Amino acid sequence: MIFDQGAERLARPAREALQLERLQATLAWAVERVAFHRERLAGARVTTLADLARLPFTHKSDLRAHYPFGLFAVPRGELARVHASSGTKGKPTVVGYTAGDLDIWREVMARAMTAAGGRRGDMLHVGFGYGLFTGGLGFHDGAERLGMTVVPVSSGNTARHILLLQDFRPAGICATPSFALHIAETLVEQGGDPRALGLRYGMFGAEPWTEGMRAALERAFGCPAYDIYGLSEIIGPGVAGECEAREGLHIADDHFLPEVVDPATGAVLPPGREGELVLTSLTKRAIPMIRYRTGDITTLTDAPCRCGRTSTRMARVKGRSDDMLIIKGVNLYPSEVEATLLGIAELVPHYQLLVDRTTTLARLEVQVEPAPAVIERCGGFDPAHPTLVDLRHRVGQRLSKAIGLTVELSLVAPRTVPRSEGKAVRVVEKR
Ligand SMILES: [Zn+2]
Repeated sequence: MIFDQGAERLARPAREALQLERLQATLAWAVERVAFHRERLAGARVTTLADLARLPFTHKSDLRAHYPFGLFAVPRGELARVHASSGTKGKPTVVGYTAGDLDIWREVMARAMTAAGGRRGDMLHVGFGYGLFTGGLGFHDGAERLGMTVVPVSSGNTARHILLLQDFRPAGICATPSFALHIAETLVEQGGDPRALGLRYGMFGAEPWTEGMRAALERAFGCPAYDIYGLSEIIGPGVAGECEAREGLHIADDHFLPEVVDPATGAVLPPGREGELVLTSLTKRAIPMIRYRTGDITTLTDAPCRCGRTSTRMARVKGRSDDMLIIKGVNLYPSEVEATLLGIAELVPHYQLLVDRTTTLARLEVQVEPAPAVIERCGGFDPAHPTLVDLRHRVGQRLSKAIGLTVELSLVAPRTVPRSEGKAVRVVEKR
């Protein structure tokens, strides 16, 4: 089912004409109203979509440098809402929305949720955090737009999630994938069965996740797991989402124009080549974004999708360019470790990478826990038990082979790896 047939099935030439028209309007709007854009873009002529490649990038640091409202294009009285990123490195990045921007956000979220199986009248359990973070309110508003019944549980308090999932029996759940797995695991520990919750679909996002994680989520809940992508600098969740084909995420490219560039040189890469996703907002009024460097590593395709939607699709995000680890000269994304570990049924789907940079050559240790059934077979957790020694050896070899790097694998006691009630922390660096 398609939420907006007209927009989502728009033929390629008409789509590109609309993109160009909206791009020109956005550039004019930004230049007229924001000094930052005026200084950088005045005189730039964009007569084709390809001309976009000649414009300068916007970085997250530009938002911080103009904190809090320096990139806003409307007077403060016209803002309907403000969101902000967590700001783990210094000041948060602040974004704003006019009433019209919020309507667009609701529309694109409703499209993504429809593509993932959401329907009018369904009850949706929202496990994303509410507040300045765009996850909770983004899903909330989109679900209301679609006509769903929203249960705004927010993140944290796993016990309350379990209670409400069991008693309300919602059709769908949305959360970070790591938090959803934590809910499932906790329920199993209490003697419950996540599959008996009767969920029809799960929508997950706000952190990079892999096909291994998908398999773990689908095994745990017994329903399909869909990826929904977004970032607050562009609008929030709903920038892109998977359809039933699950061969990439459809970008709402009538609102957000995608490019993929070489992270090092900034050169635009052709479809199919992996690089950093760059997005330009086409309709947002409060804070237009021109060529924003998302930091997310992906590839694009314009190939037709069997669902009938005609938008450009992006591959699931492999990681963030600044999450890339360099260990003994090998480039490694945490997601590559996840892809291997989460395919192994004898392990629980939680892991952590410990990087020790105090020695000349960085050392990588991967910590993961054996599954409860394995520990039971061993009569308790004893790392010296032959079964666990063998498991550690096999997983270590498989992982080393998959990522092309010798890994020190540790099987740790149950509940040693920190569980996340929001975004998971996958890498701990010791310097
Ligand atoms: Zn599709």
